[in-house]
Amino acid sequence: MKDHKKTFDYIIIGGGSAGCVVANRLSQNPTNSVCLIEAGPRDSHPLLRIPLALFLTIRSNRLNWKFWTEPQKYCGNRKHYWPRGLTLGGGSSINAMCYVRGNPEDYNRWEAEGCKGWSYQDVLPYFKKMENGPINVTTARYLNPLMHAFIHAGKEMHYPVLENYNGKSQYGVGYSYVTQKNGRRLSNADAYLHPIEHRKNLTVLVKAYVTKILFADKKAIGIQYKHHNQTKEIFANKEIILTAGAIGTPHILLLSGVGPKSEIEKHGILLVHELPGVGENLQDHLDIHITCLDKTRTAISFRMSYLWRFLKGCYDYFLLKKGEFTSNYVQAIGFIKSNPNLSTPDLQWHFAPSMHTNSALNLKPIFKHYGYTLMLCYLHPKSRGKITLKNADPLIKPCIDANYLREESDLDAMVMGFKKSRELLAQQSFTPYFLKEHQPGSHVETDAEIKDYIRHFSETIYHPVGTCKMGNDHMSVVDPATLKMHGLENIRIMDASIMPTITSGNTNAPTTMIAEKGADLILKY
Ligand SMILES: Cc1cc2nc3c(=O)[nH]c(=O)nc-3n(C[C@H](O)[C@H](O)[C@H](O)COP(=O)(O)OP(=O)(O)OC[C@H]3O[C@@H](n4cnc5c(N)ncnc54)[C@H](O)[C@@H]3O)c2cc1C
Repeated sequence: MKDHKKTFDYIIIGGGSAGCVVANRLSQNPTNSVCLIEAGPRDSHPLLRIPLALFLTIRSNRLNWKFWTEPQKYCGNRKHYWPRGLTLGGGSSINAMCYVRGNPEDYNRWEAEGCKGWSYQDVLPYFKKMENGPINVTTARYLNPLMHAFIHAGKEMHYPVLENYNGKSQYGVGYSYVTQKNGRRLSNADAYLHPIEHRKNLTVLVKAYVTKILFADKKAIGIQYKHHNQTKEIFANKEIILTAGAIGTPHILLLSGVGPKSEIEKHGILLVHELPGVGENLQDHLDIHITCLDKTRTAISFRMSYLWRFLKGCYDYFLLKKGEFTSNYVQAIGFIKSNPNLSTPDLQWHFAPSMHTNSALNLKPIFKHYGYTLMLCYLHPKSRGKITLKNADPLIKPCIDANYLREESDLDAMVMGFKKSRELLAQQSFTPYFLKEHQPGSHVETDAEIKDYIRHFSETIYHPVGTCKMGNDHMSVVDPATLKMHGLENIRIMDASIMPTITSGNTNAPTTMIAEKGADLILKY
């Protein structure tokens, strides 16, 4: 083992959306030696760059953790599929590239709940730093005409048409802003890591699976990881930073003996430090789809008749860097309210020009039909789930219990959203395209039938957060002022797991902001 003993100032666990940011910022100072360690391979697969190929990477065995939840008690006992990026860039290498800051009130709520320094006023400079720096936030190079129908239908329902939903108001409908450059995906690895990977003080280890953090009493001193079937150790002079995401971060902590006492001791692991909040407070956005058949064949399909468009797509993409393959698939978004008295939107629409269900695990509809999908998710769920251990074997995936729809009010809001979604799809702007509702179909009509449909067909929109929340109550895991873990030394967390409450929208931009601010805190304190 001694042969492999190596020391760095900082070890960053997880080269995903947040990890790439932290690696860049810490290695900016040439006197810091930094090691970024990632379980997945390098992000060199060509499909990762092609925006529309997210259809494929969402099912990939090589680039995706392919988690499954435990059977969801309030969702017809179904296990839900949870794709997560397993490569440099993490989620940002396989996600749908939608760039959404969230609602300013999300951050003001964080501050009101005890996270001083995280109000919108406080975090805005970090969003601006990202947007005007490494991240390229842009509009689509190509828009499927169905997207215009969506926007016009929103207008028919008197929703404001937004130039930019990241601006003054989030309420309304608008075309998606995406993280792309020259028609290609710009992951956080592309934006933050690759341009600076040559730095001599930065080491990037891939296919290196962290199994444990090593502690000397309450001080984090190093990590253990598996690399090509060998167990290795590296050590940190200064700090260990966890950026392994909302599933990986609590999983590693529990394996290392940090978390709820009963959960750790149940699996025969030595308790290093009791922190009851590790793995708790799991939140996600649950999504329900309505799919419709398109009589004009404007949508994307894998039927034979689509072949010429596919070939044109290849030509346009590879030679001209434009066309249908540059599409991030969900090209139009809406933020609406389940109740007009709400001060901010609590429902989000994503609109896509094809028919898909179950995270594209079931591609039958797209092979058979031309159609479009309106996805509706509830942004402010009250239900809370958790991440726990299956057993003490680090190579066994953890238990994910999202506890979706545990709170009836979450379901009620989704029923309201479902009705509004149907209303939108029935607007005149869709008349030229609309053949019939394919799923669920007209037999689902009453509130009870809609609830039943949601319980049996809802799925994740891929935003798990909150499993090591920041704050000062006894369930908090990190200190908002520094992102240091409560009661431990030389260890911080700066990924999606520290969000106390989920933001109103997609979670990559808020996670990137957390990492930017977190790295700044290290450099300052
Ligand atoms: C299919 C999909 C679509 C999405 N669409 C959007 C979208 O359009 N817009 C948006 O804003 N957000 C979207 N998201 C969500 C967004 O990508 C995530 O919120 C974000 O990536 C979270 O960042 P993170 O750094 O917390 O975790 P991740 O990006 O998941 O990074 C964690 C990294 O840690 C690594 N890791 C984990 N465990 C270990 C270990 N034991 N050892 C070593 N490495 C480890 C992982 O491999 C991964 O690279 C989507 C996500 C998915 C999966």
